Amino acid sequence: MSRVYNFSAGPAALPTEVLERARDEMLDWNGSGMSVMEMSHRGKDYMSIAAKAEADLRELMLIPDNYKVLFLQGGASSQFAMVPINLLGDKTTADYLLTGQWSKKAIQEAKRYCDVNIVADTSDSKFTTVPAEADLKFNPDAAYVHYTPNETIVGVEFPYIPDTGDVPLVADMSSTILSSQIDVSKFALIYAGAQKNIGPAGLTIVIIREDLLGKAKDTMPVMLDYKTHADNDSMYNTPPTYSWYLAGLVFERLLKMGGLSSMAGINQKKAEKLYSAIDASGFYSSPVEKNCRSLMNVPFVLANADLDAKFIEEAAKQGLVNLKGHRSVGGMRASIYNAMTEEGIDALISFMSTFENSQS
Ligand SMILES: *Cc1c(COP(=O)(O)O)cnc(C)c1O
Repeated sequence: MSRVYNFSAGPAALPTEVLERARDEMLDWNGSGMSVMEMSHRGKDYMSIAAKAEADLRELMLIPDNYKVLFLQGGASSQFAMVPINLLGDKTTADYLLTGQWSKKAIQEAKRYCDVNIVADTSDSKFTTVPAEADLKFNPDAAYVHYTPNETIVGVEFPYIPDTGDVPLVADMSSTILSSQIDVSKFALIYAGAQKNIGPAGLTIVIIREDLLGKAKDTMPVMLDYKTHADNDSMYNTPPTYSWYLAGLVFERLLKMGGLSSMAGINQKKAEKLYSAIDASGFYSSPVEKNCRSLMNVPFVLANADLDAKFIEEAAKQGLVNLKGHRSVGGMRASIYNAMTEEGIDALISFMSTFENSQS
């Protein structure tokens, strides 16, 4: 058996140790005689798995007691609607930062429910920058402010957390959650699809401050009301049990590795190595402004774009896969979430250098 270095943006690589553990527990979880997939979500065994996953996530992210953690389905894309449905209350307007493809989609969806006030728009730079903090003028009457701390497609990451005063701050952390320690109390709501840095697809995590629950209108579907899930420990209906279990294995492993401050150090080192290699070469370049380069998604382009296909093909032969950039931007993109090892980064850098030399 050989495993490749998988640079996919999502679904993304999972830690090998986690997959091995899942394999070992596949047919018989802890003497239960069944797979976690086959368990009743209301049974004692599964309840213990679910509770431990939540406790470990709380410990990892230092989530304050006045926040609920929800384990939902529907992907981050469902949150584009659930956020306005649940947070608008009697208000009619919300602030959004437009900094890439994902925030754009969030905005499109929010427009179905409220007036969207675009506080910042970086489309002129083809989304390769983030707005200057001093330029952000929020509307004090907005129901909330929404932004995307890490835009997965172009690889742009905010180097700061916007200060929105008393207006609730909402963040789509799909591609940056668990990559470093953040102060959860600065956010009213954090959401993330699992398939980038948490676990398998099918699970969506929502971390929400309790005072924001219960504001959805009665006409809204109960399944789209956060309160439904908060009141029922995410078991109002059948949750994505196996993805929740695997996410729990990932949380356990991160705790063993020293938690998120330790992961932040590792991620910093990995990204620095890769960006340095890109910057040091005249052959590769990064389209993203230096102050906001993502630690998780590293796009790069070749001076000669005609060589893209060859680069991707040759890389795959060396076991370096899924390096093709998003179809909307082209070039290459290496997604280097927690599960990507430093060894994988070294292998990529070494291949990049070999490829460059073979072309001159
Ligand atoms: C991948 C991604 C999404 C979409 O997630 P789904 O779970 O597929 O809906 C949304 N936002 C960001 C920042 C992403 O990276």
